[in-house]
Amino acid sequence: MAAFPDRLISGYRSFARDRLSAEQSRYRELAEHGQAPEIMLIGCCDSRVSPEVIFDAGPGEMFVVRNVANIVPPYEPDGNAHGVSAALEFGVQVLRVKHIVVLGHAQCGGIKALVQDTAPLSPGDFIGRWMALLAPTLDANPRAPNEELADFITRIEQRAILRSLDNLMTFPCISILAERGKVQLHGAYFGVARGSLSVLDRKTEEFRRVSGD
Ligand SMILES: [Zn+2]
Repeated sequence: MAAFPDRLISGYRSFARDRLSAEQSRYRELAEHGQAPEIMLIGCCDSRVSPEVIFDAGPGEMFVVRNVANIVPPYEPDGNAHGVSAALEFGVQVLRVKHIVVLGHAQCGGIKALVQDTAPLSPGDFIGRWMALLAPTLDANPRAPNEELADFITRIEQRAILRSLDNLMTFPCISILAERGKVQLHGAYFGVARGSLSVLDRKTEEFRRVSGD
């Protein structure tokens, strides 16, 4: 049998020595009473964009779903299995989260594959099929004549967040609570190189930088 990665063993030891010793009572309390996070976050699988790291979150604070390109698919009660929808159902109906955040990011490989219409990586073309959820975003936002490719990708990364926010509202349980003000929907964008965070202004549909201090 292959050895469990040393990096994970040493990482766990470091966690047990430092963080766990500081937060042991919190873990016990969460085990006893269950989790009650107020924030649900949909993020990308990208290893550079870890929500708990970016938002300095402790155990029990954020209910996180990660997938390629942080996409929320539309509500589809078609009898098939839908992972993001299952997480949303639990987050909204059971945990009763107060906020749902879609966190996009710069240099997203999924968005790049969509924009550049990359050839399938395998016969299943799972990335292609998944990213096709954003085809309407791409159709509605064509590349401007003099727009640099990097700027265009950034624009699509940000528009895709709006698309996911619109898709959230196709879930009856979310739209009802959002209209009553019981759950708030937010968009945010992480700039990997500078570690910058921008938050979506829903009125102007612009992303505004959050100062780091
Ligand atoms: Zn990504």
